[in-house]
Amino acid sequence: MAFADLRIGDYSFYTFTGKCCKLGKPNDRGKVKSGILMPDKHLKIYVAGHKGLVGSAIVRQIESVGLHTWVGATRDQLDLCDRTAVFDFMGEHKPDGVIIAAAKVGGIAANYDFPVEFLSENIQVQTNLMDAAHKSDVENLVFLGSSCIYPKFAPQPINEDSLLTGELEETNAAYAIAKISGVKLVQAYRKEYGRKWTSAMPTNIFGPGDNFDPQSSHVLPALLRKFHEASVSGAQSVTLWGSGSPRREFLHVDDLAKAVLFLIRGYDQATAINVGTGVDLEIRELASLIAQITRFNGQIKWDASKPDGTQQKLLDVSRINNLGWTSEITLDQGLKSTYEWFVNALAAGTLR
Ligand code: NDP
Repeated sequence: MAFADLRIGDYSFYTFTGKCCKLGKPNDRGKVKSGILMPDKHLKIYVAGHKGLVGSAIVRQIESVGLHTWVGATRDQLDLCDRTAVFDFMGEHKPDGVIIAAAKVGGIAANYDFPVEFLSENIQVQTNLMDAAHKSDVENLVFLGSSCIYPKFAPQPINEDSLLTGELEETNAAYAIAKISGVKLVQAYRKEYGRKWTSAMPTNIFGPGDNFDPQSSHVLPALLRKFHEASVSGAQSVTLWGSGSPRREFLHVDDLAKAVLFLIRGYDQATAINVGTGVDLEIRELASLIAQITRFNGQIKWDASKPDGTQQKLLDVSRINNLGWTSEITLDQGLKSTYEWFVNALAAGTLR
């Protein structure tokens, strides 16, 4: 049943405030002002990649709302490149829903240096999971892609319809091609077998559980770590790559988790849907914010001999906003809580 076709009786509803609650009488198309209306149905969800940044936030959200239950397996328990083992796991647990938050993920350098792993492993992981989910007749599935699947020169903000309309950014083309093949496999399962599966395209994500490794981290955790270390050591200056002028968008992982749990029941379309804040800022502004939060009082220098990358990457999030979802955590709030988490995890020796 498509979301827009729902007719509502006396249901409970899952809202973006993260609670399952009674909301009184909604209109007959099933929408309510404060969020998206979903039928109160318990799902047993297999969260693939539940130890990662996104997967762990989805697990926290499932547990805090209490409507669904989840299952998962660490890499030691289940290598998702092992097709037979994935089929066995899916057959044993028989989930109602699958969220594919497992992938080989990394920053520019890792993407550029290891195209074979980014292409081959990601295709294996997502294909094994989808084929096994089909065999086990899994009703609901969300595949997590990435905004880097869009063409390098896509008009900004990037609309969902930009997919496959131009050349990809060369540095992460292997990863992007793997993710595009995942989107296409979801669409193929919809077309050939009528599966109500879908894909979400998140913007840059950050939050507790992120990868802070200087060699493989994304820009935001890399900056948090760099400024923290400079602040602690009393360094006079921090030098950053590029001019600082490229613009980027950042979404807190807890907001993404809420969006994914909405999409698994509330979005039944073949088009992969963007998930972001719809707001971007210059990397220079981000660096200043992080310098303040980490109490770094020295000078920020820019090494303009280093590449800048794409000048702007901002998602058009009007489609998901029109369905009723919007991000809730401001960048400032998210940076402060993530920094607190990082400092505690560093002290406890629990960073990954
Ligand atoms: P993480 O690296 O934090 O988590 C990925 C998880 O997948 C890890 O737990 C990893 O295990 C697991 N995994 C990978 N390969 C295998 C395998 N062969 N067998 C078993 N487990 C495996 O990534 P994120 O949480 O950041 O990303 C999750 C999804 O969200 C990805 O699809 C990514 O493309 C998407 N996304 C992420 C963004 C971001 O900014 N982080 C932005 C946009 C999209 P292990 O730790 O053992 O490697």
